Amino acid sequence: MPGGVNSPVRAFKNVGGNPLFIDHAKGQHIYDIDGNEYIDYVLSWGPLVLGHAEDHVVAALQTAVERGTSYGAPTQLETQLAEMVQNLVPSMEMMRMVSSGTEATMSAIRLARGFTHRDKIVKFIGNYHGHSDSLLVDAGSGMATFGINTSPGVPDPFALDTLTVEYNDTAAIRDLFEKQGDEIACVIVEPVAGNMGVIPGTQSFLETLREITKASGSLLIFDEVMSGFRAGLHGVQGLTGITPDLTTLGKVVGGGLPVGVFGGRKDIMSDITPAGNVYHAGTLSGNPLAMTAGISTLSQLNADLYIQMGKKVDRLTAGIQESADRHGVPLVTHHVGTMWSYFFNEGPINNFVDVKKSDEQFFAKFFKEILANGIYTAPSQFETNFLSAKHTDEDIDRTVAIFDDAFTKLA
Ligand SMILES: *Cc1c(COP(=O)(O)O)cnc(C)c1O
Repeated sequence: MPGGVNSPVRAFKNVGGNPLFIDHAKGQHIYDIDGNEYIDYVLSWGPLVLGHAEDHVVAALQTAVERGTSYGAPTQLETQLAEMVQNLVPSMEMMRMVSSGTEATMSAIRLARGFTHRDKIVKFIGNYHGHSDSLLVDAGSGMATFGINTSPGVPDPFALDTLTVEYNDTAAIRDLFEKQGDEIACVIVEPVAGNMGVIPGTQSFLETLREITKASGSLLIFDEVMSGFRAGLHGVQGLTGITPDLTTLGKVVGGGLPVGVFGGRKDIMSDITPAGNVYHAGTLSGNPLAMTAGISTLSQLNADLYIQMGKKVDRLTAGIQESADRHGVPLVTHHVGTMWSYFFNEGPINNFVDVKKSDEQFFAKFFKEILANGIYTAPSQFETNFLSAKHTDEDIDRTVAIFDDAFTKLA
């Protein structure tokens, strides 16, 4: 496997050393093949909001697997998950299930282009929307971690149709729309960015996107693959009251199995084949096991759970901040709902330029120190950490204590 992994951010290339090889995981804990236990804040990069191998999800999957693993024909499970998603994210009047976040965003972009009969799209620097050609320009996640702007293999015409703007820069996006608004099919945005660490989109920035896309006949796509059921129970659209034309989901919606969803306004979604002519298909789309894990996961979510998890994230980030301040280490923490990050940075951090000023060498040392003491966070400041329903106040306090020891040793 190139780099020894099946997805680049799993490698510890930018912090040095080898990734953990995992044996098993349960709840908030993950265990490597050498028998070490860690408190896990990676949580499969987001999906496991209920923790690993959650009892109800496991039981539901055990029953489902006996009934067959794939049919390639409609099931009530797909309708059931779609209804649950629609109840939580009402702007998704009609939707399609796919097998990854990449597929969801790729299909949403194609749909936006087909619906508007325009080719150009807008994305924000440091936002990541999966690895399809049009979206691999100035992207976050592994592209940010490994310093790649445009991936080799993406033809120039694709890259040229992808216009990029700095995140949270309201003036720049207004300017672009004044010049080229009538050529733009859509704006795709992570309304809380999570692939350059957590950087919330400001209310005025997101409202501006809504206003200018509407005025110019282009579509607004909220990529909530990460923030959906993470920033809050109803995604960022629930937190801000801003309704996009299309939404993409992934990660939590599959409860640890491969699921993505794209959906939104019924008049737009009706352009998808076979209702319309914008092509989309998938052998394993709406797979019964994946639907089962999603249904079991979403059925356990409620507003109170998010309040409880949010309090723990507050406690965690406040504890880490207090410790860093006491040791005189420049540190910024950001959190929204169950997403949180720590940056070795003077701050403030509002966009990719700001986040790139973070001290990567100190991060690499610090990451390895806390890992050696049983705390597993993302091996990059350009990624988000998460919390699950299983993390306890004791876990939080232990994590803060281990951060404190690391500051004592390294500051
Ligand atoms: C993870 C992610 C994707 C890609 O999803 P995959 O399932 O990895 O293909 C797209 N958009 C955002 C915002 C993500 O965080």
